[in-house]
Amino acid sequence: MDENNNVPILYLILPCFNEEEILLKTTEETDKKINQLIEQDKISNLSRVLYVDDGSIDNTWNIIEDIHSQNKRFCGLKFSKNKGHQNALFAGLMFAKDKSDITISMDADLQDDLDVIDEMINEYGKGSQIVYGIRSSRQSDSFFKKFTAENFYRFMAFLGVEIVFNHADCRLMSKKSLNALEEYEEVNLFLRGIVPQLGFKTSNVYYERNKRELGQSKYPFKKMVKFAFEGITSFSIRPLKMITSLGFIMAIFSFIVMVYALIVKILGSAVSGWTFIIISIWLVSGIQMLSIGILGEYVGKMYIETKKRPRYIIEKELFD
Ligand code: UDP
Ligand code: MG
Repeated sequence: MDENNNVPILYLILPCFNEEEILLKTTEETDKKINQLIEQDKISNLSRVLYVDDGSIDNTWNIIEDIHSQNKRFCGLKFSKNKGHQNALFAGLMFAKDKSDITISMDADLQDDLDVIDEMINEYGKGSQIVYGIRSSRQSDSFFKKFTAENFYRFMAFLGVEIVFNHADCRLMSKKSLNALEEYEEVNLFLRGIVPQLGFKTSNVYYERNKRELGQSKYPFKKMVKFAFEGITSFSIRPLKMITSLGFIMAIFSFIVMVYALIVKILGSAVSGWTFIIISIWLVSGIQMLSIGILGEYVGKMYIETKKRPRYIIEKELFD
């Protein structure tokens, strides 16, 4: 807490991967917002904006250095290589944890409406330790993105994962909740699944998600699928249980097939079953292969986790 006037110190955490086109605009807008909040006595003037450069290969880091040299409110962390949005976000949160009272994370492209910050701080004032930013509609998203994203949330819920519908990583977290988050040591990070497990008083605020104005999405379809899979296998073992059920159904089915085969044999027209056999072989081996694959995913995950490798390496730090 800022000792002079009893208002919280806010750190805005913005992960960036190859965001050279948009950084100056983001800086201008977040600066305006932070100044406005300071004037309104909602946050301390020790508040900062923290860019986490997730190993960009364009000019992102140079731009962050420039911004920092002109305005110390803006600080930066640089990863030694690209480690993904979740890791960049986590690094930012942990860096800010002991310096701030509250953090708000957002995408660096400012697709999330900045005015949501005011509401989040109000909710914090009312005692919430975590405030989820929820996309009230997805008018600016393509049909495909909206469809896949929304069904991802539904599928996660079906698999028994506690997840907030249409909430991405735009959220406020207090120092208390960050201390709890720090206890989670898993390498395969899926923050949307972990944060609801922390408990505490939480609340939701709603906002319109805008179109990305500059640069391109860093989440192409392939990355989205990988991320969804990560989320599922990190938080649910239901796919493994589904394999067991599947095996059970197959066993019953194979008994029926056995009876059928015997009848055909007795009737003396055994060779007529050729089509059936071919289909069965491919179908059953396909299902087996898929099941082994799913098992493998979990085994692989355990392998990665047991190594306890660092999630990321911070190469440079801009803060003073
Ligand atoms: N991002 C990152 N590392 C990555 C990919 C993305 O730090 O490997 C950042 C990116 O710079 C942005 C945020 O994560 O601030 C969300 O990415 P993006 O806007 O491209 O995703 P979309 O909004 O299209 O889902
Ligand atoms: Mg975006």
